[in-house]
Amino acid sequence: MPMKVGVARETAQGERRVALVPEALGKLTAAGLEVLVEAGAGAGAMIPDQAYTDAGASVVSTGDLYAGSDVVLRVQKPSAEEAARLRSGQTLVGLLTPLLDPALMGTLASAGVTAVSLDAIPRTLSRAQTMDALSSQANTGGYKAVLIAANTYGRYFPLLTTAAGTAKPANVLILGIGVAGLQAIGTAKRLGAVVSAYDVRPETAEQAQSLGARFVKLKTAIDATGAGGYARELTAEERAAQQADLNEVIASQDVVITTAQVPGRKPPLLVTADAVHAMKPGSVIVDMAASALGGNCELSQAGETIVTDNGVTIVSPENLPATMPSSASQFYARNISSLLLNIVKDGALNLDFEEEVTKATVITHGGRVVSEPVAKLLNPGGAA
Ligand code: NAD
Repeated sequence: MPMKVGVARETAQGERRVALVPEALGKLTAAGLEVLVEAGAGAGAMIPDQAYTDAGASVVSTGDLYAGSDVVLRVQKPSAEEAARLRSGQTLVGLLTPLLDPALMGTLASAGVTAVSLDAIPRTLSRAQTMDALSSQANTGGYKAVLIAANTYGRYFPLLTTAAGTAKPANVLILGIGVAGLQAIGTAKRLGAVVSAYDVRPETAEQAQSLGARFVKLKTAIDATGAGGYARELTAEERAAQQADLNEVIASQDVVITTAQVPGRKPPLLVTADAVHAMKPGSVIVDMAASALGGNCELSQAGETIVTDNGVTIVSPENLPATMPSSASQFYARNISSLLLNIVKDGALNLDFEEEVTKATVITHGGRVVSEPVAKLLNPGGAA
């Protein structure tokens, strides 16, 4: 019997992406897999059930999807109700955020479910680039953040000379030059803005400049390069120096887009309330880091748009990739298919824990939490 791969319908609020698009089915069926799709799974991304059927999948009910799939593919982690439908021997693949919700991993392990998380891939491994869903989704987010900023800003982004007058180009500052920040720089440049950017990793200066942005050099030099190409958290002194320097730069900007993150920590505070109050009326801030944990801007409220007393609009979208569900799903489908094919051999699941991607992404297996960092979170004092 061929292994059955099920595509679950996302149920998290506001989530419109789907784990697999019809175009991605061919590679899986060619590998000997049979694809089941939960009815309505593609609706949020404007993909009708029929498109999946035409591509060779069977569209099934929620009950049949969970009962009949050997592997369940999804975007976000399952709800408690969906997790309870999973059974021993099944595999779940998605952006499961195991470090943020280790308890769910414990539950899945106890149920005998093999959980594989896309956000745990070793991102610097070149073979894993096609599986890098964090990058593909951050790209859509960085792009969309600029469009939101341009849509919210009451003036032109480009320099415009017309018979009715001249528009000055917008000054756009991007804080955090990771994947989302680089895409934001490119998008703002294409709209004609004058773009500056800043990051605590010095290597990003050249990357920003190559896209046409000016790299902001603060008076206090900070190198906060951390492990794995990420940033480390700043010390209290570094934070104070950074804040004072950044406040001056922010005051002269029309638009600020913040994307800064430090893995496993609260997002760093980069735009203080004082800095917002020093901005001109009509200025716009889009805080991509905003979540229940807080954001890069002191005044941002996750999921909301607010206008301050001095006329600055602060937009704090929570799930930007879900607002571009078709492109985000297309890229995600490629990422999840690559990861799945990495753990399938001769039409069956084949976990080789000596292989780097498998070792990093399989979080639970054989009734245990096998990921060391997640096991440590669940049992801080115990042996890993
Ligand atoms: P991220 O989402 O963790 O953070 C976004 C950016 O915020 C980072 O550039 C970080 O340096 C910056 N930041 C953190 N604290 C800051 C502060 N106090 N002030 C200013 N900026 C701050 O990062 P990401 O976009 O997921 O990617 C991070 C790194 O991973 C990058 O180096 C990226 O190139 C690398 N990466 C490498 C590969 C690869 O080698 N194939 C693939 C994907 C990502």
